[in-house]
Amino acid sequence: AIKGNGRNGFAFFDTSMAAEADERHRLEIDFRAGLARGEFELHYQPIVEAGTRRLVGREALIRWNHPDEGLIAPDRFIAMAEDTGLVGALGEWILQTACAEAATWPDDATVAVNISPVQFRKTNLLDVIMCALVDSGLPPERLEIEITERVLLEWEADHVSTLHQLKNLGVSIALDDFGTGYSSLSYLTTFPFDKLKIDRCFTRDLLARDGCGAIVCAIVNLGRSLDMVTVAEGVETETQLRLLRAAGVDQVQGYLVGRPAPATALVAAPAPGAAPAADAAMVRSA
Ligand code: C2E
Ligand code: MG
Ligand code: MG
Ligand code: MG
Repeated sequence: AIKGNGRNGFAFFDTSMAAEADERHRLEIDFRAGLARGEFELHYQPIVEAGTRRLVGREALIRWNHPDEGLIAPDRFIAMAEDTGLVGALGEWILQTACAEAATWPDDATVAVNISPVQFRKTNLLDVIMCALVDSGLPPERLEIEITERVLLEWEADHVSTLHQLKNLGVSIALDDFGTGYSSLSYLTTFPFDKLKIDRCFTRDLLARDGCGAIVCAIVNLGRSLDMVTVAEGVETETQLRLLRAAGVDQVQGYLVGRPAPATALVAAPAPGAAPAADAAMVRSA
């Protein structure tokens, strides 16, 4: 940077860009080491029936147990892992681990695994999933993959055929964060979805924003007509749960029912709701 020119916009911009690139490079080196050292772990969050609160499944959420920084949230490293292609190795580890852990659960709950769009493009997802199922012995019916509308945006004929093959295997497919993206509704018939996960923002604004309830009802009706299960994300209060149930949502997920917790906590205390608040101290992006 130019000496004594602290107020110069360009100089400031330069320095901060360089700092950012530096930071990102350090993150990448750290991440590679972390993968090799086994610093990643999956936490699981319960998904329950809206009416009865009966457990139906658990979503696997990745955390990085960093030796210096503690538990790091996925929004800090997923984008970098996608840009560098490292999400391929991470994603394979996630699928292997989620299937192996779910195979030991004391119940027959499904396990939902988030799949990055880059995993579709850069890896043979079908092979990776089949290996995880065979190695763990988990029945395909107990695995669900979650994809976001980003996959649909970049979709190729290949993606559609991969999803159909997975569905033929017995794996179910959920569309995550539904309602926030840019995809056209016609995608819903192109891709073989079993489930629509209604984004957290709709749950959050149910009382605050006029029309939010109507949108949720419309999504529920759409799901019903297309034979898809609907799940509401981010349910934090009894009021939200009541409204969602009234709207006809099939399943719910959120802090009200249970926070994401390590697999060890799950085996010790299978009942949702008693999960330790390990995530409360998690490092997230600003
Ligand atoms: P997502 O798949 O939509 O996951 C739900 C996120 O909402 C999780 O954040 C979860 O901890 C949080 N959440 C759940 N219930 C509540 C609630 O009641 N209130 C609030 N405020 N938040 C709630 P998390 O674990 O930080 O994950 C963020 C995103 O990172 C995920 O969004 C997903 O897109 C991505 N991600 C997480 N794990 C993986 C993974 O294993 N692979 C890939 N590719 N992406 C992942
Ligand atoms: Mg998800
Ligand atoms: Mg989601
Ligand atoms: Mg979300």
